[in-house]
Amino acid sequence: MDLKKTIREIEDFPKPGINFKDITTLLSNADAFRYSVDAIIKDLKEKDVDLIVGPEARGFLMGTPVAYGLGVGFIPIRKPGKLPGEIESYEYGLEYGTDTLEIHKDSIKKGQRVAIVDDLLATGGTVEAATKLIEKLGGEVVSIQFLIELEFLNGRDKLSKYDVNSLIKY
Ligand code: 5GP
Repeated sequence: MDLKKTIREIEDFPKPGINFKDITTLLSNADAFRYSVDAIIKDLKEKDVDLIVGPEARGFLMGTPVAYGLGVGFIPIRKPGKLPGEIESYEYGLEYGTDTLEIHKDSIKKGQRVAIVDDLLATGGTVEAATKLIEKLGGEVVSIQFLIELEFLNGRDKLSKYDVNSLIKY
């Protein structure tokens, strides 16, 4: 299936010069949505995953159906101040300034096998932060799955020690 055809590209969003990959048009296409979720499930099936972790907010959209399909639980990673329980946080650098992500401290047990699912790999900063949080809690990152990879940004370099899979490459 040609998934690229179902992704809308929007020029100059959210800033001038950025060609934003809008996945809402993929999600609203029943065949494309099912095909993408099934493809990620298929890749994870033999990897003996205990949990799916998804970063806010589009990681929730792809991560929860994958968790449901695999029959495992889903753990959200969120922006600061959103999770109600005791949290672990990780601050990481952006082009200008920093960002922080949080996870519930008791959400992953030592030795659990975790796969991260997100919509898009750009510089890799978001998912690298997710790996730090998972590993801080004692989880093992056994796979990282993206719908889209922007290959020209070389985000994979930051994730070179992990199993990384993406369905659509630009
Ligand atoms: P990174 O941390 O890899 O630089 O950026 C990836 C994060 O930014 C992802 O969580 C993704 O949701 C968001 N992102 C960056 N560019 C785009 C884009 O063009 N389309 C979408 N859907 N998300 C983007």
